[in-house]
Amino acid sequence: MGCTLFYCGCEALLRVVEKRVFLYNTRVFIWEEFGTNNFRIGIGHDTHRLGPGSSLRLGGVNLPHDRSLIGHSDADVLLHALIDALLGAAALGDIGQIFPNTDIKNADRNSVEMLQEVVNQVHQAEYRIVNVDCILFAERPKIAPVALEIRRSIAAVLSVLPEAVGVKAKTGEGVGPVGREEAISAQAVALLEKIS
Ligand SMILES: [Zn+2]
Repeated sequence: MGCTLFYCGCEALLRVVEKRVFLYNTRVFIWEEFGTNNFRIGIGHDTHRLGPGSSLRLGGVNLPHDRSLIGHSDADVLLHALIDALLGAAALGDIGQIFPNTDIKNADRNSVEMLQEVVNQVHQAEYRIVNVDCILFAERPKIAPVALEIRRSIAAVLSVLPEAVGVKAKTGEGVGPVGREEAISAQAVALLEKIS
């Protein structure tokens, strides 16, 4: 059973006398039980270098581009950040522990497969995915035209509606590794609910 605190004045106090009350710093607080707290939040971050190439894979979607992301797997930086957010929310470790870059089977691996494996682990731990939100940091290409496709791609793997997947993008304003088009980064948050 979880609890929350409410600050209230004396008039409100008279109306909630049935709840537990205590004083702190001369203020009156109400300690109210609100039921089981089953939510868990996680955060993820990733960066991959850009190098010679002709396409990118972002959020499971292949995009033509004049450079490619470099990595042991397919370097889908957005899905890697999302994987860490999901693992973090469920306290199941991190992407490096589950998909080590020393394992040959992860070489050039499609990150959609990796995300699906993590979603299975999250479900086996008896969590449901409530929603996720992501930010891509990329000078190019423009993400807005393909944001809906990326959201649908991610939603299909997470078994949620596209409305439960946020995808936003920022440029590097021409400065730093992102702005100089040396790298693309991503951040993600995930909210899970324990279902047992
Ligand atoms: Zn990565």
